[in-house]
Amino acid sequence: MSKYKICLLPGDGIGPEIMEQAIEVAKASVGSEAELEFTTALLGGVAIDTTGKPLPDETVAACKAADGVLLGAVGGPKWDNVDRSIRPESGLLGIRKALGLFSNLRPAVLFPELAPASCLRADIVAAGIDLLVVRELTGGIYFGEPRGDKTIDGEPASFNTMVYKQSEVRRVARVAFEAAQKRGKRLCSVDKANVLDVSRLWRETVIEVSKDYPDVTLEHMYVDNAAMQLIRDPSQFDVVVTSNLFGDILSDESAAITGSIGMLPSASLGEGGIGLFEPIHGSAPDIAGQDKANPLAMILSVAMLFRHSLNLVAPADRIEAAVRKVLADGYRTGDIMPRENAEGCKMVGCKEMGRLVLENL
Ligand code: NAD
Repeated sequence: MSKYKICLLPGDGIGPEIMEQAIEVAKASVGSEAELEFTTALLGGVAIDTTGKPLPDETVAACKAADGVLLGAVGGPKWDNVDRSIRPESGLLGIRKALGLFSNLRPAVLFPELAPASCLRADIVAAGIDLLVVRELTGGIYFGEPRGDKTIDGEPASFNTMVYKQSEVRRVARVAFEAAQKRGKRLCSVDKANVLDVSRLWRETVIEVSKDYPDVTLEHMYVDNAAMQLIRDPSQFDVVVTSNLFGDILSDESAAITGSIGMLPSASLGEGGIGLFEPIHGSAPDIAGQDKANPLAMILSVAMLFRHSLNLVAPADRIEAAVRKVLADGYRTGDIMPRENAEGCKMVGCKEMGRLVLENL
């Protein structure tokens, strides 16, 4: 039987509550197919309180020794006034850097039962939303040099550099092609190759990499068109791959059209398959400790960990099917409870939602 080490970083706010549910689901979903060994480490505000640092060295070591990392959420008003360099969020950036996580995978799935939560017209969402945005995470204009301020024509000016090495494009393209192979086998590469030199290299490189994935159909789209197509007809997309800046915007847009922040997981992957898996939402301090949090994004993060880092595809499928069943049966946490026409829906708390998923595995 395969054995996997999973490092848990529950973090702050609702992090520990949703993590508790996710661990039970993880254990039950693998059954006797694999053995899971959990270690827990400190990150964020709880790490500041305990050690004075948002990312203790022991946490980095524990993550590096694991096959995959599950993160709840970090931050909260308690740490809003601590020095910027030791803010909980800097622990998050630090762990991403320490693990060399260069690609971010953000699925945007609209569960049919939650369609009224989408901001799109009913006839558009009727076709379904089930796409995955793969964003390059450590390059491009957010990190490019040179950057800074200077004087142009006697007035203040500022500049950044959008730069990609071919190897950086190649590795994120590979992640996207491999993700497409595990889904609908269609990949849309988003760029601005009609204007930007860096996008021309991006496009040429993605085409070159595509030769290794003949089973995946590749198309290209300019970023302005992609932003429009996402709201006109999101059902046309399977996997989207794009650079850091474009991916930042498109992944938030695709999450927004599904309408429910408590439902969406994400993955950040590095070399050698090590990955960090987390819900896209924050620590929700307004509802922490009240058994009101929706644990489904955290539970679906476990499914992503199984699929992308541990190759436990059947348990991942089982978790996703159980979540769908619980929603189909009408169970809702407060964040996904319809404001109108709620007949047939039953409001539950975090623990009960976790228990229902377990029951349906
Ligand atoms: P948030 O995502 O924590 O909360 C926004 C709103 O959504 C709140 O009303 C909250 O109650 C609700 N919500 C979020 N997740 C929910 C869930 N699972 N179930 C039910 N309701 C949920 O964003 P925020 O309020 O802007 O940030 C709060 C703290 O979280 C801040 O300190 C912020 O820096 C931090 N944060 C952390 C991460 C992370 O750890 N990856 C991401 C975003 C924000």
